Amino acid sequence: MQPVLKSAKLATVCYDIRGPVMARARQMEEEGHHIIKLNIGNPAAFGFETPEEIVRDVIHNLPNASGYVESKGVFAARKAVMHYTQEKRIPGVQVGDIYIGNGVSELIVMTIQALLDSGDEVLVPAPDYPLWTAAVSMAGGTPRHYICDEGAGWLPDLNDIRAKITPATRAIVIINPNNPTGALYPVELLQEIVEIARQHQLIIYADEIYDKVLYDGATHTSIASLAEDLLFITFNGLSKNYRACGYRAGWAVVSGEKRHARDYIEGLDILASMRLCANVPAQYAIQTALGGYQSIDDLVVPTGRLCRQRDLAHDLLTSIPGVTCHKPQAALYLFPRLDPKLYPIVNDQQFILELLLEEKVLVVQGSGFNWPHPDHLRVVFLPNTDDLTDAMGRFSRFLDGCRKRHGGLDSAHAEAPGSSDGNRIAGVANIAEPEEAAKAVKAGGEGVALPRTE
Ligand code: PLP
Repeated sequence: MQPVLKSAKLATVCYDIRGPVMARARQMEEEGHHIIKLNIGNPAAFGFETPEEIVRDVIHNLPNASGYVESKGVFAARKAVMHYTQEKRIPGVQVGDIYIGNGVSELIVMTIQALLDSGDEVLVPAPDYPLWTAAVSMAGGTPRHYICDEGAGWLPDLNDIRAKITPATRAIVIINPNNPTGALYPVELLQEIVEIARQHQLIIYADEIYDKVLYDGATHTSIASLAEDLLFITFNGLSKNYRACGYRAGWAVVSGEKRHARDYIEGLDILASMRLCANVPAQYAIQTALGGYQSIDDLVVPTGRLCRQRDLAHDLLTSIPGVTCHKPQAALYLFPRLDPKLYPIVNDQQFILELLLEEKVLVVQGSGFNWPHPDHLRVVFLPNTDDLTDAMGRFSRFLDGCRKRHGGLDSAHAEAPGSSDGNRIAGVANIAEPEEAAKAVKAGGEGVALPRTE
């Protein structure tokens, strides 16, 4: 029998948050190991529960949720989202401009699919939430990564954005607040991005799913509030602000210059209709969630659980030699840098596999977020303080071992990465090539093609 191959469209698609290293972790769990998981932004898994009022209202409405509904979503839910856009000062949004989806994930794929023809380019941040890059590739487009500058608090590098625009560029993706860096973009920067989009007639896709997970009294500005003469698609949902990932409830809002986008909007309507409608029970959570008391506020104040965990994880991580990390102003993640002089990592997937095997701690490698160098990883700070302390202790021990094993690189005279193969960390085995590392992961795990990063 002929082997059954996956579609060629998937050749460039990568989603390492649920990738082969996670598959290996699952296998280890089946063998009885306890793994500390710092890999997935799934609040419920760490005891952050969906507010009870939301749960109650879904239960209350369940008897009315058996049928398909309007493909764009239940009216009351979309009306509540419309009011939310008013709070966020996004002008001119009507109920008809709102699409409810099975999480923002479905809507990212749908809205990109509706836009792109092969050869079209989309500007996507590096690092990014990798579904964006994957969605562009799957739609036949080419993701062009613009760099977010770690030295500038991970803000997008405007010159790099400008340099990467070509006649084929159709759109720019802004993830604000950002996963994986935790950066929150100031209004002046957003204005400059708007200006660039205006000059080049780009559509702005704004992923704002963490817009209420803000620390240190920070405030969030929706980029779509800054102009009416450009087309914006703004994404948000219940997964993070309301700790309801499993409900699969998100929305996309079309705003700004809609008149010139009638054809594209027709495409969105076609795709929304083709999937009939989003999960109906969860749509009944939206109105309750968006109105009234916002329990996320209690978690992000200095005494709140999320803020305390962020502070602790950041302090512990940055006290390890050679580990630096911009302190996140938002979201649920840290994206530390491992100084290549101390940790000359060649293959970051292999590196995190070795961390998993040695210390039973699971994180995601920076390249899983389309970061171009093997010197970062993402840590989720959702576990409670005891588990975070335990995990950071294990991580620190692992890095101590790396420094010792690799010839006392823990010195100011450490060799530059790549200057000596003998001192390279591949992961920890000396596997120099990514393909070899992938084979090593496969050999140890189930060989799942895609890794995992929510
Ligand atoms: N966008 C970003 C930046 C995310 O981090 C995530 C999930 O982690 C999503 C979108 C997907 O969200 P949803 O659960 O609504 O599909």
